[in-house]
Amino acid sequence: MSDQDFKEVDISDDVIKEVTGEEVTDKDSDSSKKDNTDNKDNTVEFCYICHRPSNVVGPLIKLAPGMSVCPECMQHTFDSMSGLGFGGGDNSKSNVDMNKIPNISFLNLGSLFNEGPKVKNAHGAAGSKSEEDRPAPAIDINNIIPPHKIKGMLDEYVVGQDYAKKVMSVAVYNHYKRVATGTMDDIEIEKSNMLMLGPTGSGKTYLVRTLARLLDVPLAITDATSLTEAGYIGDDIESVVSKLLAAAGNDVERCQQGIIFIDEIDKLAKKKNTNQRDVSGESVQQGMLKLLEGADVEVPVGASSKNAMVPTTTINTKNILFICGGAFPAMDEIIKARLNKHSSMGFMADLKDKYDDDKNILQKVTVEDLREFGMIPEFIGRLPVVFATESLDDDMLVRILKEPKNAIIKQYQKLLELDEVKLEFEDEALYAIAKKAKEKGLGARGLRSIIEEFMLDIMYEIPKDENIGQVIITADYIEKKGGPRILMRTAAALPEKTASM
Ligand code: ADP
Repeated sequence: MSDQDFKEVDISDDVIKEVTGEEVTDKDSDSSKKDNTDNKDNTVEFCYICHRPSNVVGPLIKLAPGMSVCPECMQHTFDSMSGLGFGGGDNSKSNVDMNKIPNISFLNLGSLFNEGPKVKNAHGAAGSKSEEDRPAPAIDINNIIPPHKIKGMLDEYVVGQDYAKKVMSVAVYNHYKRVATGTMDDIEIEKSNMLMLGPTGSGKTYLVRTLARLLDVPLAITDATSLTEAGYIGDDIESVVSKLLAAAGNDVERCQQGIIFIDEIDKLAKKKNTNQRDVSGESVQQGMLKLLEGADVEVPVGASSKNAMVPTTTINTKNILFICGGAFPAMDEIIKARLNKHSSMGFMADLKDKYDDDKNILQKVTVEDLREFGMIPEFIGRLPVVFATESLDDDMLVRILKEPKNAIIKQYQKLLELDEVKLEFEDEALYAIAKKAKEKGLGARGLRSIIEEFMLDIMYEIPKDENIGQVIITADYIEKKGGPRILMRTAAALPEKTASM
């Protein structure tokens, strides 16, 4: 439509009737006549929005040369804008549907510019995933279920580690109760940040991952070794919050209720007998204090480091649950030394090697042991929940192979089931796998690679022969002393296609 369509024209009342299709009443004519008396040229203007003439709708409001609107359209425009959240007010009273008025639409000006990642702030606005899209979490953090139920859910995935699961369930329950109620005023509930010790591959990361998944909260996992004091080569301490924001889909509110897991925290221990500046150890512990306690941090959005080109947002870490984990090698010696010192004096003196065979000595860790190891007191003070995972023995490793909901063996059985082949493992075979994993010293992490190694041949050979109905993995096969037992289908059990061959 060109500007010409809207140029001011001289027009008679009859023409107006024809154009608008309206019956102009005498009263209207009177008023229009009156209005037009104000208009010295006696010209009629048309509303830019509804195209009704000025002698029907009254004097128009001039917005720009050739663009005037009637008071009614102007009012509806304001009403609609306030209904869209531009100015508050109740739009429901409006009796004009803006969609029915031609030539009007609202643009999202933001979409005209390439704004980069959108941040959903704590009070709403844009986010990557709408609330409706997200499936309901197993545990609603606003209506948090009691610790025994949280542990029950963890039991389905994590074998053993009863003590660790119990401690974590209670800590998480308290933490989210604190978040949900926000009672920080009179009785300040301490944050339940955790410090989890335990041998490599004993399921520390797995426990945290499972917990975060059940709670449906974002999780960021970082290695403490990658962190350095700000200004040195490596990641700034605040980059962990940035990672969490990314995991939360740049949703600030979700991020502020997430979990940050910092692995290998033992690598931050204060170095003994050194005069050099410790930029990746003690200084990082110092730098993390504020973060653990709760502070506003300015983090880059969509990048791991701040620079002038990256937009930033503020995250408060008050409700972020921090879990630190580490294997703490040589901690057992510190604990043993302490225990032996207490027990080797006086009449009640014990044998000096009493604790030598204690595989779970880490569970006896105290704050003094952690200080002795090189963690600074302020840091330990901000991780009030300290516990250790058990080291995995053969029985636990075998249980890990077959019991969890998504156990490795169940996964392979499912895969072969699709080929209508039954897969079984003899118990001795499972123990042989556990033994091999222990030799590798990687805990449960070694199980998958061992299983994958010998299942490769099975997964390759089985589909070749449709007559194979069952495969039994034996200890001999694992120990490379023989092969698996293969059972053929009986003729009657063969699929029709094969039986007729
Ligand atoms: P860590 O962090 O203690 O070094 P991980 O949590 O990475 O060990 O464990 C490695 C893998 O071993 C996990 O991905 C998980 O599959 C398996 N795993 C370890 N412990 C358990 C357990 N208790 N129950 C089930 N699976 C486990």
